[in-house]
Amino acid sequence: MKRLALLLVAILCLPIPSPAAECLVPPRVSQGHAFPVSVTDGAPFDVRVRWRGETLLIPAAQKPGEKVWKAEILLAMPMDARGKHTLSLSTGGVDRAFVISSVAVPWPESILKVAPKYVEPPREVMAQINRDSKRSREALALRTEKAWTLPLQRPVPGGVTSPFGGRRVFNGKPRAPHKGTDMRSPEGAKVVAAADGTVVLAEPQYFGGNMVHIDHGQGVISTYAHLSSFDVTAGQSVRKGEVIGRSGSTGRVTGPHLHFGLLVQGVAVDAMPLLNDPPQIVGGPSRSIFDSQPTAKTPRSPR
Ligand SMILES: [Zn+2]
Repeated sequence: MKRLALLLVAILCLPIPSPAAECLVPPRVSQGHAFPVSVTDGAPFDVRVRWRGETLLIPAAQKPGEKVWKAEILLAMPMDARGKHTLSLSTGGVDRAFVISSVAVPWPESILKVAPKYVEPPREVMAQINRDSKRSREALALRTEKAWTLPLQRPVPGGVTSPFGGRRVFNGKPRAPHKGTDMRSPEGAKVVAAADGTVVLAEPQYFGGNMVHIDHGQGVISTYAHLSSFDVTAGQSVRKGEVIGRSGSTGRVTGPHLHFGLLVQGVAVDAMPLLNDPPQIVGGPSRSIFDSQPTAKTPRSPR
């Protein structure tokens, strides 16, 4: 009898692949959107996630008072992704493949006027620009443990003045699309962290001005640009909603505002849909407060 009980215990403790693990994967995601994927099971496990050339190993966690173990990851559908893409999830030796279709987004165009030195930067600042992009690349390459939670906290209360994804023309010259969201925020107003994380960068940069990057784990990084001052330093842990700096007009700007960016494994995504609960993963583009008003038709005078 005792032997049988021991045998039973031994069998129960074997790491058996669990085909019962439940995967939550959206079938469609809009371009430039981040989307959460989760795997839930009754026992601890790791899941190997393969998405668009990158592999991440995600350990399942158990929330206090809950029976199930859940592994959660945030992934990105790039702005220019077209067609169908395969997500592979492997747990306990079982591979599952999911097809996710990208939904096209009609990105808007914005025409901006800034100081000429930000369109054709003078030669003496090229060293700084190169150093800035090296520092940002290092931050974006981080893959730490999950600290992000959804929905994200809105970093400033003001509305969107220039949405994510707009193809931008600076002083008549086409430049890269807008890789963040500009939000109305007066000089000196508080800017708060979108989620828990670690400050990986808090320094002046050429285009971004005074810039903060926060690592939220799994390659999820939020960025805050054009600040007038810093309330945090690199290496510091921050909680969702904690003040990290004050908004301002440093760097390439037309006036004081917050440029709020979100990168997911190095891919720029629109952060605005993640402020909703549940997150909006199909839709867009995000609109600005100026778009929501009907455009006044100015009568043309004959010339
Ligand atoms: Zn911006």
